[in-house]
Amino acid sequence: MSATTTAFEFPLTRSASPVAAARRAEILADPGFGNHFTDHMSTATWTRDGGWHDLAVVPYGPLSLDPSAAVLHYAQEVFEGMKAYRWADGSVHLFRPEANAERLARSARRLALPELPEAAFLESIAALVRTDAEWVPTGGESSLYLRPFMIATEAFLGVRSAHEVRYLVIASPAGSYFPGGVKPVSIWLSQDYTRAAMGGTGSAKCGGNYAASLVAQQEAAAHGCAQVCFLDAGERRWVEELGGMNLFFVHDDGSIVTPELSGSILEGITRSSILSLAEDLGHAVSERRVSVDEWREGVASGRITEVFACGTAAAVTPVGRLVSRDGELVHGTGEAGPVTLAVREALLDVQYGRAEDRHGWTT
Ligand code: PMP
Repeated sequence: MSATTTAFEFPLTRSASPVAAARRAEILADPGFGNHFTDHMSTATWTRDGGWHDLAVVPYGPLSLDPSAAVLHYAQEVFEGMKAYRWADGSVHLFRPEANAERLARSARRLALPELPEAAFLESIAALVRTDAEWVPTGGESSLYLRPFMIATEAFLGVRSAHEVRYLVIASPAGSYFPGGVKPVSIWLSQDYTRAAMGGTGSAKCGGNYAASLVAQQEAAAHGCAQVCFLDAGERRWVEELGGMNLFFVHDDGSIVTPELSGSILEGITRSSILSLAEDLGHAVSERRVSVDEWREGVASGRITEVFACGTAAAVTPVGRLVSRDGELVHGTGEAGPVTLAVREALLDVQYGRAEDRHGWTT
């Protein structure tokens, strides 16, 4: 299919052995995160000479890859993370899917992968969600997590951008992130490892960034923390983001600050949504550099009253403590603060159709 075609179709080959309805109900009652996958997946293939072709929704199942496939050696890969939400009336909605299409295209450019046209991306998602709609959980803050990704499949060991690429979307039901009420997390300040440097791949969503973060994540777990906070790779002074979430600081005058997009931070779609929603709620918002010293001094003086993290997986998560080899910093009471909870509610209200969608974010 040529890139100038605007209508992309993903014809369906239905699974001959879908998960039985009773088993699916069992899974949906307590899906956890990333454990179970739906009956189908979207797929498309790109070749240097033929562009995008073989668009389809097919039964979910293993891939057949040549052991010399470039992705297995040089990690030429990008991915996205987004969710389909079931509203109270039973209908299913996506949240800002165009923003995921745009970010995937940006990530693909950085990893020398082909761009998937926005219309093809949107249809790959819509076709899969329509096919596996019964897999979208009901109730609480559950959702169907969608994972689009693109891998270099060409069987060739030379180091250059691959001439053959595969795009896929898989879907996984996800339960409420905080089933027992919103609980603050502790985060570990990584002073030895950095995530991304200027000119590197930090602002792209590529697998290599996450592989590089795992040892810091292990260090965090060893210190009783659920997430890692990374600093800039140059001065080791400026707060960047967590392993999989962006950070926000709430000040005693009601203003909200998030680290500016430095070129090495992932531009979160939740982050950008919160910048708008917080303004709607009457908060002054700003994007600027925040140093660890400002963080420590701000908490000590009471100027910083709350810290929260955000991302597709958990929406908004209060950060109760910052732990580092220099000691421990407790934010306020260590419990979820009122601004964090209000921002969280405002976001979930739009995602679950409980409030007016003033920004036209839901599809
Ligand atoms: N930073 C990183 C490193 C991430 O992996 C994610 C999750 N995609 C985020 C921030 C949050 O992005 P989003 O709000 O688009 O999920």
